[in-house]
Amino acid sequence: MSHFHSLSIDRVQQDTRDAIIVSLHLPDELRSVFAYQQGQHLTLRAMIDGEDVRRSYSLCSAVQDQQLQIAIKKVSGGVFSGWAHANLKAGMTIDVMPPMGHFQVPLQPAQSRHYLAFAAGSGITPIYSIIKTSLLTEPHSRVTLVYGNRASSTVMLREALADLKDRFLDRLSIVHVMSREKQEIDLFNGRIDADKCRALAEHWIKINDVDVAFICGPESMTRQVSETLQSLGMIKDQIKTELFSAATVDAAAAAARRQARTSDASVLGAQCEVSFIIDGHHHQITMQRDTQSLLDAGLAHGIDIRYACKGGICATCRCKVVEGRVDMDANHALEDYEIARGFVLSCQAFAASERLVLDFDQDS
Ligand SMILES: Cc1cc2nc3c(=O)[nH]c(=O)nc-3n(C[C@H](O)[C@H](O)[C@H](O)COP(=O)(O)OP(=O)(O)OC[C@H]3O[C@@H](n4cnc5c(N)ncnc54)[C@H](O)[C@@H]3O)c2cc1C
Repeated sequence: MSHFHSLSIDRVQQDTRDAIIVSLHLPDELRSVFAYQQGQHLTLRAMIDGEDVRRSYSLCSAVQDQQLQIAIKKVSGGVFSGWAHANLKAGMTIDVMPPMGHFQVPLQPAQSRHYLAFAAGSGITPIYSIIKTSLLTEPHSRVTLVYGNRASSTVMLREALADLKDRFLDRLSIVHVMSREKQEIDLFNGRIDADKCRALAEHWIKINDVDVAFICGPESMTRQVSETLQSLGMIKDQIKTELFSAATVDAAAAAARRQARTSDASVLGAQCEVSFIIDGHHHQITMQRDTQSLLDAGLAHGIDIRYACKGGICATCRCKVVEGRVDMDANHALEDYEIARGFVLSCQAFAASERLVLDFDQDS
């Protein structure tokens, strides 16, 4: 189910001081397996100090490019990003799971839309893929990008964005917002937050003209921009968000839920019969309801379940509850309509009934 494939690395380029762009070689026999949509991500796996470490990285290439390219920003003290910067070289191989993710909207060549995108730091990677694919697929659509960084030296994919701007002069507008480098227009100085979003809407972007907005960046920026766009008249369904990591405040909320669950006498020590449907096969286990997430219980029984972040962010372990009930600690990835259809994140889900059937094969 994990379906990792060993891909060789064609090229590793330094993008900024802290970011590398990694181009992966895609052999012809894997082209259909790795066919991707704009805004999707790959999960990479490496053994680091004897541990199986998996992290997700968004594709930063257009669908038309047919090129598996990711950009990895080095996070201070980060296990995988630090290892990747020190070790990834052209010619070596790395384990990669096929593309996943729902951070996109369907495109139609006849459509004439205005897409608005907000990105901060490494959040530009899926946004770049979305922008380029949209401009290439829909010749009558246009895009406004608001991209936040500390200074021009930290702007990831800077050259690629400049090339895109040259190519689509009339249909792409890029606003760089810098927090530590003064720009002539004061509106473009500072950080992307609720006030900046409101000011841009007042002076620069006609929000009632926007069809869909995409936001990718730190959690507080993503939340503030989404809320502001809604206060300015956009509806939630018009706004797509993607998070790379979540704030620790949610860990506290999850801990409180866990505490409530383990102090519930009816749950304490209770068992659950779980059936995991994966690649058409049924795997049955009996697990304790209060101690382990469904993902951890399945993995402990040797079931090959796909996963990456284990933090409720990447949605790699998404599945559908076909029978029974679960209790989710955190969700930073699923949209309301997916939850309404019964989808859960198995890394965050705990059994809340005596029997459960989880289907990992359903995608929509
Ligand atoms: C769907 C998805 C797509 C992603 N796409 C990209 C991408 O295109 N490029 C990219 O560079 N990263 C991307 N990420 C983030 C990436 O998966 C890793 O989380 C990141 O590289 C840090 O991993 P690490 O092992 O180095 O850090 P860890 O060892 O996991 O963390 C070390 C410390 O850094 C903090 N931290 C973790 N992630 C971040 C982050 N993104 N920003 C700031 N602090 C963080 C942690 O809270 C911890 O304190 C994506 C994540 C998801 C879920």
